[in-house]
Amino acid sequence: MTRAEHLSHDEAVSGPDEPAVAVAATPGAKPAVVTDAQIAQQFAHVHTWVFDLDNTLYPASSDLWPKIDARITLFMMELFGLDGMSSRALQKYYYERYGTTLRGLMEEHEITASDFLKFVHDIDRSSLVPNHSLATAITALRGRKLILTNGSREHALRTAEQLGLDKMFEDVFDIVASDLVPKPNPQAYERFFEKHGVEPAGAAIFEDIERNLVVPHSRGMRTTLVVPKPGQRDHRDPWEVAKERPRHVDYVTDDLEGFLTDIVRAAPPVKSTKS
Ligand SMILES: [Mg+2]
Repeated sequence: MTRAEHLSHDEAVSGPDEPAVAVAATPGAKPAVVTDAQIAQQFAHVHTWVFDLDNTLYPASSDLWPKIDARITLFMMELFGLDGMSSRALQKYYYERYGTTLRGLMEEHEITASDFLKFVHDIDRSSLVPNHSLATAITALRGRKLILTNGSREHALRTAEQLGLDKMFEDVFDIVASDLVPKPNPQAYERFFEKHGVEPAGAAIFEDIERNLVVPHSRGMRTTLVVPKPGQRDHRDPWEVAKERPRHVDYVTDDLEGFLTDIVRAAPPVKSTKS
């Protein structure tokens, strides 16, 4: 992805070409195009970098999320004695209504979260390829780095390790740390901010689900939606894909490592404390 494909609401500079990612993320919307230096300036105040895990730190084109998704369907088939299609329909309903399938199962059926999390994350991660360029890009960011996931801590740690990303994160805030309240619920973010002493106005978040950026943006975080590359598999349900890029999405990228690398490369120099 070239720098012209990073999009921002805040900049009014029009580019000569419609970036491919804009077509995927915001059909019908005219994108604003910014330079690396302008992007870096927009992130210059950021000292805490927050990353979602699934379909953000690994590409949506990997087979990992479909494996988890299938395990969720299977869990519900076994729990309710449903066939695959019925289980799938109920799963989608809970996801849309409650933010996660787990939350729906807890609210309506009082299932035990630990049983669910253990079952759905019991997957083979060996197909995930270590992402050295993303590791380098995240390491080069100045400040703290945290993972904020609706999944389990163990899943995040094992997945990050498989990706070669386990050394650069200070901690993982998972669904258990969030008292089983998932994103996009405001309480999930408040607990995260409180537990890790995160100042939202000095933080940026990267996430593949657009509705999970509403609260972060309202709290002053710099928000970036990570979308599939053109032609790649897109796990989002149609209702999750906004027709126009919403105001709470500051940037859209289909190349997280490239985007982070641009931020680092064009970052203003650190001011010396010496006089
Ligand atoms: Mg995700």
